[in-house]
Amino acid sequence: MKGFYIKAFGCKLNQYEAEYVRERLETHLEYTETSPDIVVVYGCTVTSRADAKVRRFIRRARRMFPQARIVLLGCSSRIGESFGADELFPDTNIFLASLGIKTKEWFDTSGFFGHTRSFVKIQDGCERFCSYCIVPFTRGAERSRPSSEIIEQTRRLTNSGFKEVVLTGVRVAGYSFNGYNLVRLLEQLLEKTEIPRIRLSSIDPDEITDELIDIIAGNSRIMPHLHIPLQSGSNRILSLMRRGYTREGFVDTIVSITERIPDLGLGTDVIVGFPSETERDFEETYNLIEALPFTYLHIFRFSERKGTVASTLPDRVPEGIKSMRAKALSELAIRKRLEAARKRIAIPQEVLFERKRRSFWEGHSKNYIICKTRSEENIRGKIIGVIPEEITSSGELICREKLCTG
Ligand code: SF4
Repeated sequence: MKGFYIKAFGCKLNQYEAEYVRERLETHLEYTETSPDIVVVYGCTVTSRADAKVRRFIRRARRMFPQARIVLLGCSSRIGESFGADELFPDTNIFLASLGIKTKEWFDTSGFFGHTRSFVKIQDGCERFCSYCIVPFTRGAERSRPSSEIIEQTRRLTNSGFKEVVLTGVRVAGYSFNGYNLVRLLEQLLEKTEIPRIRLSSIDPDEITDELIDIIAGNSRIMPHLHIPLQSGSNRILSLMRRGYTREGFVDTIVSITERIPDLGLGTDVIVGFPSETERDFEETYNLIEALPFTYLHIFRFSERKGTVASTLPDRVPEGIKSMRAKALSELAIRKRLEAARKRIAIPQEVLFERKRRSFWEGHSKNYIICKTRSEENIRGKIIGVIPEEITSSGELICREKLCTG
C-alpha cells in the first residue's frame, strides 16, 4: 500500500479540508510520517509570511522525502504559484478524483485527528472584498451548506464522543440556506442535536445582530466567545480597507455584546502597517484595543497580495516600523491576556480538557481561556468544573478540580 503525509497551514477551513482529505485518503493509502509517496500540502497565502512558511515546508519535504510527489492544495494553489510543489490542485475534489476517490460537494469529517472538538464547515467563500484580502479571489463566491447536513454531521460527532463543534466558514455570519440564517441554524442545532458545546468562528462587527447576541446570551450550550476582527482603530484606515464599519460602530457593538454576555471571551485581528498608516492611526488602534475588553489578539503585518486593491495603494510603511508596531501590540496582547485571566481567578469555569502536557491537563474554558489542572485520571475529552487559583506568565489559568459535569 502506498503512503501519504498531509500538512495544513492557515485557517480553520484549510485544517478542515485537510482533515477531510486525510480521512478519504486513509481508505486507499496508509498515513505515514516517515516514507510517504505523496505529500499533500494545504497552503495558506493570506500574507507573505504565510507564503514563506509553505515554501519552506515544501523545500524540507523535498529533502526529507525525495521519492515523494508533492501536491499543493488550499488557497496557495488557487493563486497559480507552485511554491516548489510538483502539482497544484485548486480544488480538493479534483485532487481526490485524480486518485479515483469519490467525494461530496460539502466535505464531511468524522472528527479531528487527535482532537476532542471538531470543526464543522457551514459556509465557504466571501464577496466582501476588503481591500487587502486575497480570500474572495481564492475561495470565490459565497455558498452555504444545507442545514440538514450540518445537523447530521454534528449528531455523528456527538455520538462518537466529541463535546464541542466549532462552526466554520469564511463568513459564518453570512450563512444562508433555504431561508435559514446563522441564528436559525443555531436554533436547529440546539433542538436537534445533543452536542454539549457550540462555538462560532470569526464574525465581522457589522454582522453581529441583536438576535445573534440573544441566542448566545440565552443558551449555555453556545459558548460565550466571539472573535470579532477590528483590523484598525483608525476610521481613515478602515475606510481604505473597505471594512464597512467605523471605530465608533465597533465600540457600540462591543458595548452591547458585553452588556448582555458579561463573561465573554473576546478575540480580535489587527493589521499593522497598512499603506499610509501613520503613527497617529496606529495610536488610535492601540488605544482602542487597550480600552476594549479583548481577551486575546491576533496581530498581522500588512503584506501586499497581488490583485487586491491595497496592493496598488501608495505610501508603503517600512518593514522596521511594521515590526515596532507589531511588537508594541504583542506586549499589549500579553497584558490583555493576563488581565482577562486575573479577572477569572476564583470564578468557577467549565473546561473541556483536550491534552496532557507534562504534569498538567489542558483545555479551554467556555470563554476560550486555556485552563490547566493536575489529575491522576485521564480527563481527555471530559468537561470538568474547575476553580482557577493562579495565572501563568502567558495568561493561562492553573486550576483545581471542582466537579465532573460530563
Ligand atoms: Fe477577506 Fe474581508 Fe472576506 Fe474576511 S470579510 S475573508 S477579510 S474579504
